[in-house]
Amino acid sequence: MALLVQKYGGTSVANANRIKEVAERVVSTVKQGNKVIVVVSAMAGETDKLTKLSSKITDTPDEREMDLLLSSGERITSALTAMAIQRLGFKAMSFTGRQVGIITDSTHTKAMIERVDADRLVRAIQEDKIPVVAGFQGINEFSDVTTLGRGGSDITAVAIAAALKADLCEIYTDVEGVYTTDPKIFKKAKKMEKISYDEMLEMASLGAKVLHGRSVEFAKKYNVPLVVRSSFNKTPGTLVIKEDKDMEKIVVSGVAADKNQARITIMGVADTPGIAANLFNAIADENIIIDMIVQNISSDTKATDISFTVSRADCKKAFEITRKVSDKLGAKGVNMNRDLAKISIVGVGMVSHFGVAASMFDTLAKHGVNIMMISTSEIKISCVIDVKHTETAVRALHKAFNLENI
Ligand code: ASP
Ligand code: MG
Repeated sequence: MALLVQKYGGTSVANANRIKEVAERVVSTVKQGNKVIVVVSAMAGETDKLTKLSSKITDTPDEREMDLLLSSGERITSALTAMAIQRLGFKAMSFTGRQVGIITDSTHTKAMIERVDADRLVRAIQEDKIPVVAGFQGINEFSDVTTLGRGGSDITAVAIAAALKADLCEIYTDVEGVYTTDPKIFKKAKKMEKISYDEMLEMASLGAKVLHGRSVEFAKKYNVPLVVRSSFNKTPGTLVIKEDKDMEKIVVSGVAADKNQARITIMGVADTPGIAANLFNAIADENIIIDMIVQNISSDTKATDISFTVSRADCKKAFEITRKVSDKLGAKGVNMNRDLAKISIVGVGMVSHFGVAASMFDTLAKHGVNIMMISTSEIKISCVIDVKHTETAVRALHKAFNLENI
């Protein structure tokens, strides 16, 4: 007998029929001799709908009130799913985040889980009840409702799986697993059988949205095996687990593309201590996330250029801030390119193979794709390119690293 956590995302519980189908899958897993804890998201579109509703009242909603509002979406699905399971003759019980002891910090709208006091869950399981937990929420030390940030139900599921030492945490969604690249960009993308936590973390941070990045960090920390699979069919899905020997043999396991990049360059700033601190503090103060940073060595003029990338959504704001800093520092000026993409190859096998970066650059060169910036980590190489070359680059790299035949 295994203990499984099954998390169903918004599209899997999008309407009453889908909820009934979820109940059937849960019941059939129980009939196979497993214990199941269910975690549900809000119905597809519900969180957006509630957010829109609040914006009709005010442009600056209080975050504490926002959390109570948004947490209601998941409560609705947890109660409905419990009813659907009961209708099939099984015992089920819905729970809010508070009722299953999910204790978070007080950062409303993006709270971090501090602990899970799972006694009630344990009791429910002992009494052969199927718990159905409202994802995405907890309470802080003052008993105020908090939420975990968009897509946060994944985190709830993994946190519960970790707290109860579940054998497996299944994340049910509307895709069949994790792909070697975005199937929308390249049709020949292949579903991976398994991927390591670290690779998945890189893919998630590069925009592969199947799993919330923090849920993967949590799973890695507590060694919770994850499966990403579709709730629309019985296909097995992709296993996300600790790195193993087979994985190291594969040099590159995925190609990720992020088409929403912009680059800002501040030109001719003095090459003296404090310049970078000045600029990036000003940007951080506006809560803008910076990705790549390149600073050139200065020529004999003792001035240098600093370039960095931000998401296109933040680029206007970042440009304004940089211009102000440029004026203050007496730099030569600021320019921006907002039509960029970041293309990345990811694989734990890179650690033990030579020439991976060279063959990536070679492939791009052969296809006439100019590289504007480069960054690397142990298991990832990213290049910034013109957004119009995204499809070409993805296809070429997918081929060059033989991902079709993995
Ligand atoms: N309902 C929340 C959202 O749409 C949380 C989740 O679905 O995981 O972001
Ligand atoms: Mg999600």
